[in-house]
Amino acid sequence: MQIQTATLGYPRIGKNREVKKALEAFWSGNIESESLLQTIQKVEESNWKTQLEAGIDYIGIGDTTLYDHVLDWTFRFGLIPERFQQLSGLERYFTMARGKEGIPALEMTKWFDTNYHYLVPEIAESTLPSDFSDFLERVSRAQKILGKRAIPIVLGPCTLLRLSKLSLNIQQAVSKLIPLYINLLTELKNLGVEEVQIHEPALVLGDANSWKEHFHKVYQSLSLVGIPLHLVTYFDDLGETYPWVIDLPVAAISLDLTRGRNLELIKTYGFPPNKRLGAGIIDARNIWQIRSEKVIPILQEIVETLHGTSLHIQPSASLQFVPYDAKREKRLPSPLRNVLSFAEQKLQEVVFLARTIIGENTKIEQEIIETSWNKFEEFNPANQSVQERLKTLKTDDFQRSLSYGLRLDSQISLPLFPTTTIGSFPQTSEVRQLRMRYKRGELSQSEYEAAIDVQIAESIKLQEELGLDVLVHGEFERTDMVEFFGQQLSGFAFTENGWVQSYGSRYVRPPIIYGDVVRTAPMTVREFKVAQSLTEKPVKGMLTAPVTILNWSYPRMDISKSEQAFQIALALRDEVADLEAAGAKVIQVDEPALREGLPLKVERWNEYLSWAVDAFRLATAVAQPQTQIHTHMCYCEFGDIIKDIERLDADVISIENSRSNNQTLREITEGGYSHQVGNGVYDIHSPVVPTTEQILQQLRTGIANLPVKQIWVNPDCGLKTRRWSEVIPALKNMVEATKVLREEA
Ligand code: GLN
Ligand code: ZN
Repeated sequence: MQIQTATLGYPRIGKNREVKKALEAFWSGNIESESLLQTIQKVEESNWKTQLEAGIDYIGIGDTTLYDHVLDWTFRFGLIPERFQQLSGLERYFTMARGKEGIPALEMTKWFDTNYHYLVPEIAESTLPSDFSDFLERVSRAQKILGKRAIPIVLGPCTLLRLSKLSLNIQQAVSKLIPLYINLLTELKNLGVEEVQIHEPALVLGDANSWKEHFHKVYQSLSLVGIPLHLVTYFDDLGETYPWVIDLPVAAISLDLTRGRNLELIKTYGFPPNKRLGAGIIDARNIWQIRSEKVIPILQEIVETLHGTSLHIQPSASLQFVPYDAKREKRLPSPLRNVLSFAEQKLQEVVFLARTIIGENTKIEQEIIETSWNKFEEFNPANQSVQERLKTLKTDDFQRSLSYGLRLDSQISLPLFPTTTIGSFPQTSEVRQLRMRYKRGELSQSEYEAAIDVQIAESIKLQEELGLDVLVHGEFERTDMVEFFGQQLSGFAFTENGWVQSYGSRYVRPPIIYGDVVRTAPMTVREFKVAQSLTEKPVKGMLTAPVTILNWSYPRMDISKSEQAFQIALALRDEVADLEAAGAKVIQVDEPALREGLPLKVERWNEYLSWAVDAFRLATAVAQPQTQIHTHMCYCEFGDIIKDIERLDADVISIENSRSNNQTLREITEGGYSHQVGNGVYDIHSPVVPTTEQILQQLRTGIANLPVKQIWVNPDCGLKTRRWSEVIPALKNMVEATKVLREEA
């Protein structure tokens, strides 16, 4: 059997975030487009060389992007919605990505269950001619450096359609795309590439079986071009589509062996001997080194199952979800650093596994891996107290002592339609400077705290003047709602260079959960107390909930996600108790990531929701009946999980609502949600100040179906990205609108 190595995509932001820097310079008019494109070329060529030097046999290329790879394909195929058609070139491209005065951008949404966001294509009848020249140029350049190893990556037609908003029927759309793909593949064939990777992650979605006919039609047609096609899937297993997918007319099929039950499917249904299997055995979505004693037997099992088929060993998906190089993280303790695997380390793992499976002696490498894990375990022993606490949890720990209906009257009394905000106030450059100077050691702790307290005092004064009912301290001490907590909990690590793309030029450095999570001291009580001491009005304690902390971090692989969520929940539980003891009458626990954590396949939703909701309950149920628990969620569709949201048992939920034209609120009311709802009355993503009339309008339509006692008034989300000059008049109008409403009621 022939065993080789492959990659399915690589980080594309530049080792030193070159792409972000070039983009921002271009957008602000400081560099020309040539210089921007040169940066991209340099980044991709350095990526190719790294993979070549690592010894990868088939290197996926062409995925580097100015903004988003889905947008790139939309653009190349000429699938340009009418509102962008009068623009051209980069201006058109970036307007599709970011919009401009009077021309709204394409919608952005999450790429499957990852934290990457893509731009949603809108496919209509009228399209423009396709233009693959940038891609073909790139492929030729790659061929010069990589020769036959250069394998173009193309986004598959069925996935493109599945993720698009279509204003023509699906049959028509399929027929429209097929000739475009045939042209593209023909051009690639003329360049003499060995094969083409066609990425079809839509095959792992729950509804993929209903796409069977389209897949057949598309791949029958594309196979006629006569260039070998490599069908790539990832993020989950093929499920019920497996039996027919393996029969599609393609030369190779890649499966994710790190998620779902693909291995079981291979063993049950076999794999066609005339096709190559791409075994995605290295987790492309997490940053841990392999455990060779676990992965080698899996690969051996696959080799035994396959008859005569050739095999590629590879990462489970594009490596865009991990940073470049763990070795650069010099500040991390070496026992931890040595078990981290970012893109460069994963390339080495791919090659190591292939050599091992071929039968080369890799004993020394295996020992090195094993030793590094042993050292890590010594460095990071389990925390007995948290383990013990988890084992002895009782049903009561997840249950507030009185049910919602019974505890309601003992909670703080407020006017009809109470007004509040979501937590953060503008992170001005002054505030960011403060945090930076403290971090660099230029400010002592007491100087820093005193300066933060000035900000808190100003914000409290302002909120009182505005006449808000429930105040916040403003979150000036927080860089980010997850990082802030991670930094104070044991078991979290932070990288210096571990950037990954969230969307466009926005990159994040997800924290790494590496050990048991324990709270060593109160995390938010000091700021709460300062704020509460300055006002008679209630100030909200402000926390981030367990699933959001977990989902926006790289999780551990040695224990389940639910166990990690419960550990975080216990830490938050202690914080809730401390805030309450410090006098908090209202505590908000933000859980914006609850819905986005849903598994791709609906049959796994219940299992996830069961522990995810329990984690929130564990964190909050310690509160006395008279303490009002709030939660907040950003834009998401609630319809199908409304019962689970109710089961959180928060007294008040504040939601994004104005951006969805009250859709969120409709879903909540139709679902029979019986607790209080904070109705997001204006979009905080826009710098435009909403008028009193607009807010009133939003409130009136929003509340038509809800009992008045259930309604709160607040902006859609936190205000940290806005300026004070936008926030003050907006909140003034919000309070004004509420007054009008109160008079009517
Ligand atoms: N409390 C947070 C804030 O106001 C919530 C942010 C969020 O929902 N993403 O910034
Ligand atoms: Zn939000």
